[in-house]
Amino acid sequence: MARYAYVNGRYVDHREAHVHIEDRGYQLSDGVYEVVGVRDGRLIDETPHIDRLDRSLSELRIAWPVSRPVLGFILRELMRRNRLRDGLIYMQVTRGVARRDHAFPSKPVKPALVITTQHRKRAEADPGQGVAVKTTPDIRWARCDIKTVALLPNVLAKQAARESGAFEAWMVDGEGRVTEGASTNAWIVTKDDELVTRQTDHGILAGITRHTLKSLAGALQLKLVERPFTLAEAKKAKEAFITSATSFVTPVVKIDGVPVGDGRVGPTARRLREEYVRFCASGEAVT
Ligand code: PMP
Repeated sequence: MARYAYVNGRYVDHREAHVHIEDRGYQLSDGVYEVVGVRDGRLIDETPHIDRLDRSLSELRIAWPVSRPVLGFILRELMRRNRLRDGLIYMQVTRGVARRDHAFPSKPVKPALVITTQHRKRAEADPGQGVAVKTTPDIRWARCDIKTVALLPNVLAKQAARESGAFEAWMVDGEGRVTEGASTNAWIVTKDDELVTRQTDHGILAGITRHTLKSLAGALQLKLVERPFTLAEAKKAKEAFITSATSFVTPVVKIDGVPVGDGRVGPTARRLREEYVRFCASGEAVT
């Protein structure tokens, strides 16, 4: 079956898809992106993802490449052409093509829009065995709230994790506090059964899954505290887990080789994953 990508106004064969060598995303990481999960042919949390794209673009003063309704149409058309029922859709907007110079192009250029899809196995409510994380210093810049394609520290952190047999990297700031994962938000459940995740500020990405899970946790009457937590606290926690559009809610059972709690998937992470997968299947929206 042919696989299509959307590149600047055209649906093209994925193998042939290309952008210009002077695209500022390619040369300077001058661009932003979004990853949205797809379940049963529906986009999960479409509105908040597109709102976050809008925010990332405006923080960097990149114009919308197409109108918001047109983007919605293109996403659906690409899903239809690629027969995407379950998986994810990736969209990237860069400032466009211009003669290389760090400063913005002096004449306005058209932002570049690229969209691809990936088929993935449908997420199961059962969280399986959980995963291990490896910690690494958070060496990123001070605007991690903007979802830019400048991901080198995240790439290096994830690679270090994978080389040590861990699934995800947890980044730790200068004060010993866990900021977030390389591509996920980080959570713990304390001995007092409090759910703790860092508040959203410039230090982390405001995850859409994180936001949805906050409402689901509220509906389950779980106590949620948004504050930084330290690595020492995480190692003593009852449970830990990560959230993202691609990992959903995934329990963390080991941090740097130290078991979290009894080293098995705990009841809170299990319950939250079940709720989140149910939410994805329902096609509901959380505000
Ligand atoms: N933090 C980072 C650094 C990420 O890259 C991601 C994934 N986009 C997340 C958190 C989780 O965000 P979301 O739930 O919107 O996928």
